[in-house]
Amino acid sequence: MSARIVVDRDKCEGLGMCEAMASDYFELDDDETMHVLQEEVPDADRAHVHSATQACPVLALTLAG
Ligand code: SF4
Repeated sequence: MSARIVVDRDKCEGLGMCEAMASDYFELDDDETMHVLQEEVPDADRAHVHSATQACPVLALTLAG
């Protein structure tokens, strides 16, 4: 089983909390546009990525599945 990262682009403000929490999955570019480096999250990383999604101040991140 794996989960998938879903981003609500209308909400994301490029604040970077997700990158600070899980830089292996989230990266901000020079324009503060956030890129998901890896959408599929294996079970081993699930808790780690879940914490990062919870850290988003504008609730733009969901972990589906
Ligand atoms: S923490 Fe939320 S607002 Fe900030 S870059 Fe990540 S998804 Fe976007």
